[in-house]
Parts: sequence; C-alpha cells; structure tokens
Amino acid sequence: MIGPVYEAWSGDDASPAILVCEHAGVDIPVHLRGQYPKDLLSTHYGSDLGSRALTLALAERLNAPALCARYSRIVIDCNRRLDDPTLFLPEADGLVVAANHSVAVQDRHDRVHGIYAPWHATVERVLEQRHEAVSNLLYVAVHSFTPTLNGHLRPWDAGLMWDLDDRVALGVGKSLQAESGLTVGMNEPYSGKAIQDFSIDFHAERQGFSNISIEVRQDHLATANGVEAWADRLAKALRPFVSAAPVRLAAATDGQSPSFATEAAQFLDAAGKWGVQRAS
Ligand SMILES: [Zn+2]
Repeated sequence: MIGPVYEAWSGDDASPAILVCEHAGVDIPVHLRGQYPKDLLSTHYGSDLGSRALTLALAERLNAPALCARYSRIVIDCNRRLDDPTLFLPEADGLVVAANHSVAVQDRHDRVHGIYAPWHATVERVLEQRHEAVSNLLYVAVHSFTPTLNGHLRPWDAGLMWDLDDRVALGVGKSLQAESGLTVGMNEPYSGKAIQDFSIDFHAERQGFSNISIEVRQDHLATANGVEAWADRLAKALRPFVSAAPVRLAAATDGQSPSFATEAAQFLDAAGKWGVQRAS
C-alpha cells in the first residue's frame, strides 16, 4: 500500500509561481522498507538534501504554492522519463542498488502507478487550477546537488537550468552573479537540455509556461541559517518574475526526443485515472 505522494502548501491564489520539489521525499513504501541500505538513504541518492526546507522557505517569501514529493527518489525518480534506465537507480557510488535491479513487473507497476503517475497528475492538476486564474505561470523546480560527485569537487554554489525557454534562468542568473563571491552555474552542474530532465519538459514546456530549475549545493543548505540565506537570495532574484511572469509561449516539445509527444500522450492517458485533463 502506498500512501499520499505529496505535501502541498497553497500560497496566494493569484500567484503565478508554483514551486515544485520532486526530490524532497525520504519515505519508502511499506513493501520496500528495509531493502535500501540506511547509509544510502541519508545521502543525495535518497533525496535532494535541504531541498524541502528551501522550497518551503521560498514559498513563504514568495507567497507561492508549493508541492513536495514524499517518496524517496531512489524508489522511483519522478524527474525521469518512464523508459529512462535510471528511473530506478541501478547503481550508487559503484555499488549495486539491489532493490532497483530487475524490478519485478508487479513492483514496477506499484511504483509507477502508486507514486510516479499520481505525483505528475497532481502537478498537472495544480497547474491547471492555477492557470484558470492566471494566464502566465512560472514553474519553479527546486533541487540540490552534492558538492562532490565521483571524486570531483563541484565549484558552483548554485546552478540554474533551462531547456527551450531561458527567460527566467538568464534573469535570475544575472541577479545572482551580481553578488560578489558566488559561483553560479548556467546549465551546470546539469543541463536542462539533457533528456533526463523530464519534469520541466513535461509540465512547463509542453504547455508553454515560463520556467526555471534551481539547484543549490547541499552544503549551503545543511543549517537553518543556510536555508534562510539562500531562500532570501533566491526570492529576491525571482521576485521580478513573480510580479510579472513572462508570457506563455506556444507549447513546445523537446527536440531531442522525437518520441516525446507520444510518450506524453500515453502518460496522460494513464494519469487520467487521477482526474488529470489533457492540456489543450
Ligand atoms: Zn533533484
């Protein structure tokens, strides 16, 4: 049995911004408890450390609605396409993640239909509800990244990502880069153009909503003071785009994936069970 897949905060009804944190969660469904090493769950493989606190602090400052996923990304990564080989992360730091290897058909079904589909259906529903009141929405994805990956230190304090729509990322980047001493990655440490970055493509660009994906280095979010400082900084940089969200563009699909439209249509059919309407 899988429980509620998200936590939600409503914010101002008129807010164009919607904060989405899909790697916030640390819960493991009952049928998989005890199958992931505890040491692994407490690392960035289990969740984006500090991202939930940052999302809530940002939501408070922007008076914007927020959605945080409850389940750990290690159970199923909601920021991946359903056919992505890392949907169930098979390896972490060179070690096999046993519970994610050769996932049985029933288990896969439970994770996809119990977590992934209702999560994305919820995000769609919130966007649709907001879109009825506000024509230009701003989709803000909040993540955090590990300071060291595969033995390499990462120099960025934060990264801003975009794919087809750079309007918000470039503006926020300019604002952050004006602060001395900050190293801001533009489409670093990950690129929004990478095929793995599913949610922006699916929820924002498919419907032409302005968007940004924000990654903050996890050591900056290790204390309450660090979270507050980053929330202040990001709220300041985002505020102009919340006051006047960029106009909705023509819907776009990811040029790197010819199958994207088909995939999205199939997924929405599946998500229809949760009351999600197809975007027009
Ligand atoms: Zn993340």
